[in-house]
Amino acid sequence: MTTHKDKKGKAYLIGAGPGDPGLITVRGRELLQKAEVIIYDYLAGKKLLSYVPKDAEFIYAGKKGGVKHTHTQEEINQMLVDRVRAGKLVVRLKGGDPFIFGRGGEELEELVKAGQDFEAVPGVTSASAAATFAGVPITHRQCTSSVAFITGHEDPNKTESRIAWDKISTGVGTLVFYMGIKNLPSITANLIKHGRDPQTPVAVVRWASLPYQQSVVGTLENIADIVSKQGIKPPALTIVGDVVRYRDQLNWYELRPLFGKRIVVTRTREQASELVSLLEENGASCLEHATISIEPPDSWQQTDQAIAQLATFDWLVFTSINAIHAFFKRLQEQGHDCRKLHGVKIAAVGRVTADCLLQYGLRADLLPAEYTGEGLVAALSKTDVTGKKVLIPRAMKARKVLENGLAEAGATVTIAPVYQNVPPLSEGQQLREELKAEKIDMVTFTSSSTVRNFVDMLDCKDNRALQELLDGVMIAAIGPITGQTVREYGLAVHVQPETYTIPAMVQAIVDEIGAG
Ligand code: SAH
Repeated sequence: MTTHKDKKGKAYLIGAGPGDPGLITVRGRELLQKAEVIIYDYLAGKKLLSYVPKDAEFIYAGKKGGVKHTHTQEEINQMLVDRVRAGKLVVRLKGGDPFIFGRGGEELEELVKAGQDFEAVPGVTSASAAATFAGVPITHRQCTSSVAFITGHEDPNKTESRIAWDKISTGVGTLVFYMGIKNLPSITANLIKHGRDPQTPVAVVRWASLPYQQSVVGTLENIADIVSKQGIKPPALTIVGDVVRYRDQLNWYELRPLFGKRIVVTRTREQASELVSLLEENGASCLEHATISIEPPDSWQQTDQAIAQLATFDWLVFTSINAIHAFFKRLQEQGHDCRKLHGVKIAAVGRVTADCLLQYGLRADLLPAEYTGEGLVAALSKTDVTGKKVLIPRAMKARKVLENGLAEAGATVTIAPVYQNVPPLSEGQQLREELKAEKIDMVTFTSSSTVRNFVDMLDCKDNRALQELLDGVMIAAIGPITGQTVREYGLAVHVQPETYTIPAMVQAIVDEIGAG
């Protein structure tokens, strides 16, 4: 048996990239997934932390420029060494690349002194990201073949500068200043003083690669003024050089249709976030609020009974992917697999549910023209369901349209409750504040239960208070039923796609608010 004492610890100094969690390296992510201890910084993207096993030790090392540091560098070094010595796999996660203005070298030196093992994994540095995401090729054959990364943290007025202003001003094509917002007036003055053309274009990029990226362009002469007038704050990078002109043609990130829009996505926690990824691809900044979480039903009795006699049913009807996953999970737990469905026809409410069934090796026999409960009743009724046994696995609480409609058409309907929606607590307060501060452009709903739970979460005293809170916020609903639920609260629906799918909903959102 291996005990902690036998296990040799190791530290991994990993570059987190500039902020977009997709920009960490594959190696970096692999190591995050194995971490036993993680020590991270302010600029290390928080989403990345979700890759780390929940039982790992999380240590926030602070280090927000200008603000009081949570831990001193010495304390960080010590924590790192101690944990490695205790036999742990320690990840030291740093923003951008750990060796570029990241003090990564110093931390590794401490490990070497302590005789401990380490590995370093590079990251996308923010200079590279800021240039790419601002549409500035950091080098270009036509105008520059050299780049310098420079700290802007040093006061350029001090007499013994470690920066050779006289050489870099004219000797290097593109200059990228890190941590240079506060000193921008003196940085630009120094460059001009040492011979750089005052008309040289300059771009300042804040929060590069993130949905709330901000950038401004000017010249060496006026950029400091522009930055101060627009209130651009750190973290931001300053790119100086003729390459900045290419932005006119190459700016792509900030021109995506939903760039700068803040959209609330209300979904169940468990569902894959297709909506979020499509909205983000179009440039939106998504606030994911899990309005419901999926829990097992209070009792499995009805469902287990139905499963035991599965082959006696004529139809098995699915109206959501949650129901599919929960039903097949239970089927397996009861010691069966989908062969138990032999001879049973399957109906799905829509394309997404039908695709989900394919994962279980099952093809839906019936798909309605309109993807709603009503559509399903109409399509099933056409097959003559008189005297047929229909099983509907679904949420404990659900609309009765399907069961009533099928019963009216002469079918014998059995409901199998396979899950229930439970609203999680505590997310409402934050959302209320964002809404009050008018920081939200749109709220999206993908089912009636997301609407109800969203409203519950906001906890307004009446519909009027709710309407006031959502005043000026657009609402998107995936289809007519969800839309109807929104209207029942006296709220308007601004976007509702013609086909009730997530890609169609995103397209409708782009069509509606994309231009502005
Ligand atoms: N090791 C990091 C740099 C750390 S120094 C890297 O390789 O990127 C911190 C400075 O990096 C900030 O003051 C800012 O100038 C810059 N920076 C980091 N992330 C940034 C981002 N997403 N957008 C703009 N600048 C960023």
